Amino acid sequence: DRSFPYATSPPDKLLGGLLPDGLDERSCRSRYESSMYRRNPGRRPSPLLIAKLRKHEELQRRCGPNTNAYNLAIEQLRAGKSAGSPECKYVVSISYRGLGNRILAAASAFLYAVLTERALLVDPSNKMDELFCEPFPGTTWLLPRDFPLASYTNFSIDTAESYGNMLRNKVLSADAPPAELPAFAYLHLDHDYGHEDKMFFCDDDQRLLSNVQWLLMRTDLYTVPGLFLITAFQEELDALFPERDAAFHHLARYLFYPTNHVWGLVTRYYRAYLARADLRVGIQVRNFDPRHAQSPHVLRQITSCVWREKVLPEVLATGEHAAPATPGAARSTAVLMTSLRPWYYERIKGMYWDHATATGEDVSVHQPSHEGQQQFGKRSHDGRAWAEMYLLSLCDVLVTSGWSTFGYVAQGLGGVAPWVLHKQPANLTAAPDPPCFRDVSMEPCFHAPHVYDCKMKRGLDTGEVLPHVRHCQDVSWGLKLV
Ligand code: GDP
Repeated sequence: DRSFPYATSPPDKLLGGLLPDGLDERSCRSRYESSMYRRNPGRRPSPLLIAKLRKHEELQRRCGPNTNAYNLAIEQLRAGKSAGSPECKYVVSISYRGLGNRILAAASAFLYAVLTERALLVDPSNKMDELFCEPFPGTTWLLPRDFPLASYTNFSIDTAESYGNMLRNKVLSADAPPAELPAFAYLHLDHDYGHEDKMFFCDDDQRLLSNVQWLLMRTDLYTVPGLFLITAFQEELDALFPERDAAFHHLARYLFYPTNHVWGLVTRYYRAYLARADLRVGIQVRNFDPRHAQSPHVLRQITSCVWREKVLPEVLATGEHAAPATPGAARSTAVLMTSLRPWYYERIKGMYWDHATATGEDVSVHQPSHEGQQQFGKRSHDGRAWAEMYLLSLCDVLVTSGWSTFGYVAQGLGGVAPWVLHKQPANLTAAPDPPCFRDVSMEPCFHAPHVYDCKMKRGLDTGEVLPHVRHCQDVSWGLKLV
């Protein structure tokens, strides 16, 4: 049946209770229309996760901007001291780096906020306000522009108020009474962070941080696997996510919906190029090394991956034809490619035009944009990137590039464990062999975990502690939930 929409029963608009009722449908069409565009309904959220989210939405309303509690907390921040037992505590997620990084960072900050009963406020810079719908009913998740710590977007590893520097300089100590704690701490959880910053992932440090009213978090990482290693959070995390490999899947489908402008980019493209195909295959090509922007070895890596793993049909030698078929009767596959450059797309599209497929299937190849290079702070660029991530997430099968957070977001939203192209070494002389592997789960990889035993105070391979927190295949020292 090729009718569209293909949902046979009414689509489950609220995703099994994951999404709250009562958000305005017109101002964020993607939230309610997405389920019509997805063939894969995704995993079901646990009743405890649903209950916790409803409770957290109530906290966001009670503590969010323009409430008494928020105004009091801002006064406390101006005064420079943490309140003894404040009504509300906060975590501010600083937005920086590429869109994939920003999404993983906001998801990580959100889960931390839920676990520690803090309101999450998202730094509106980098167009976060124009790309994403508001997730919480009756309040905003955007940090107001008049936030008093004006320089927070420049906080770095050197900032004196970072948790790591305050520990190192003994400004903070575990036995300090709450009234002597500073009003805020900056959590530098960036890929370049140091040992003291990483103490964030230890139980004693979480106890200390729980009395600091404002936490400002900068990360470009998916820190959720690290939260699973903190004993104090484990029981609750196990209850919220009985399927650990779906943690980001639920967080992403709860938090991230394209605004109407971006949703227009997604849906027009989907309906025109992808909707009628029998199968949609997404291929995300991310070349971290500019020398690989047009590499025959990388091209061979992609084709040998999709052929070997039977993701796409092989092509016959020129001149050969598979059995003639009535036009439109053959099974059809639409390939959605995303990349900053057009080279691989042009080659693969040409290949399926020049040659018949061995199976007689029709293969069409599409790539929405080729932006040339990563750009910062440009609205149309980020909007396209977000639309392409979302389009990938609507595909039935995914081939992604290892190391790329862009691909991680697509696989998590889509609920698909991808085929992953191995990252190419700098001096590439042949296609990597094997070209790709099937990922064990759809979860993103935490690229820079702490390798430390908080209790014994010594080094520890944190990929060997819990059965569901393992090393990643693409980034061998990274951690992922399985
Ligand atoms: P990562 O660097 O691969 O981990 O992914 P990020 O999303 O964090 O950063 C890469 C940025 O480069 C994206 O946010 C986009 O701005 C841009 N980019 C990379 N690949 C693509 C692509 O396939 N399509 C588009 N439109 N932009 C891309």
